[in-house]
Amino acid sequence: MEHAYDYLIVGGGMAGDAAAKAIRAADATAFIGLVGAETSPPYQRPPLSKALWKGDTALDSVDLGTAATGAVLHLGRRVTSLDPAARRVRDERGDSYGYRRLLLATGATPRRLPFAAGDRLIHYRTVDDYRRLRRYAVAGAHVAVIGGGFIGSELAASLAGVGCKVSMLFPGESIGSGRYPPTLAAFLDDYYRGRGVDLLAGVKVVDGRADDTGVELVLSDGRHLRVDAAVAGLGVTPDTALAEHAGLAVADGVVVDAQLRTSDPDIWAAGDLANFFNPSLGRRLRVEHENAAVEMGAHAGRAMAGAGGDYTTLPYFYSDLFDLGYEAVGLLDARLQVVEDWSEPHRKGVVYYLEGGRVRGVLLWNVWDQVDAARALIAQPGPFDAASLRGRIPHDG
Ligand code: NAP
Repeated sequence: MEHAYDYLIVGGGMAGDAAAKAIRAADATAFIGLVGAETSPPYQRPPLSKALWKGDTALDSVDLGTAATGAVLHLGRRVTSLDPAARRVRDERGDSYGYRRLLLATGATPRRLPFAAGDRLIHYRTVDDYRRLRRYAVAGAHVAVIGGGFIGSELAASLAGVGCKVSMLFPGESIGSGRYPPTLAAFLDDYYRGRGVDLLAGVKVVDGRADDTGVELVLSDGRHLRVDAAVAGLGVTPDTALAEHAGLAVADGVVVDAQLRTSDPDIWAAGDLANFFNPSLGRRLRVEHENAAVEMGAHAGRAMAGAGGDYTTLPYFYSDLFDLGYEAVGLLDARLQVVEDWSEPHRKGVVYYLEGGRVRGVLLWNVWDQVDAARALIAQPGPFDAASLRGRIPHDG
């Protein structure tokens, strides 16, 4: 079957939804199409590891309502080829979709463990993964959480919160190691242990077997762990295959200009897969967080509809870890010079990450409504040091 659109969005995630809404706001009559590999219409992804486990958020509430834009949603369809010269994409069932302007918002794919995953071993990313994990994550079930990054730390807390026995495995020294300063990471480990999470640090999962009754994991230190279910958050790989095969510029993601346009003038990219320049940091970035997906999707949608302007936003991100939480901006890299400014040690305060006297990242630990202040600080030339940063972002109120 052949379809033709003014604006075609490939990818049914948060960036795709934001783009459809922005295009519709700028162009009331355009034909907009969206092709998404998942069968669910676009939904909010953050609740999958956080709010949906707290009991007061219904699964229906995550729907983003993309259909109200009038965009035609082609769901459960994976685009497998892009022909920029013909301005056409094709899905795996052979349907073709012509476009005047195209957005690539295909996101990223979870890294996988090196053995066959059965139903009880979940590489966590989608609402279907949530539904599957929910089936096994009953009170008293033993669940292994593999990975100590965003998904691992959020899901370990969420699963413990619904009464699962949680074993958390990760290759680093501590939860979020490399991201948080060592004393904060050590505090976090103790915090998780204090809430019943069993931490297995410094190990990788090297082999395993999933069957109808559980999952057997073989660890790099030779130990075996048998659990009722396992969920992995091992990081993601940006889905750049379409762009690469179409000859677009790709370098750690699809390379876009200041208006989020790729090396083809009729194709834009946004979200997890887009590699963009951020003026505050003075470098190219690829950001795999909700705020980047939503802001870049909206910006790309406006740009595609002719309302230009540069994308200059430095995305923020946030996390919930039991009853701790934070917002953050920029580079959280513990190898940078770190300045910690606590009003209550490891409970409330601000961590600054510096490089050559410039602030590159700000972690607002249980400190709220200061994201714009953090962004402004990162945009300033400095130089800054520990003395000039302490107290700069208020947090003792
Ligand atoms: P992530 O934050 O990059 O963490 C990946 C983790 O997996 C790291 O702890 C890594 O350890 C570990 N790992 C890698 N290979 C491993 C192996 N073979 N065995 C055990 N552990 C291994 O990625 P994620 O948690 O999978 O999240 C996926 C994406 O979703 C990310 O882009 C993330 O930003 C996004 N996300 C964001 C949020 C949020 O913004 N709050 C929440 C959920 C997901 P090392 O670092 O030591 O290699």
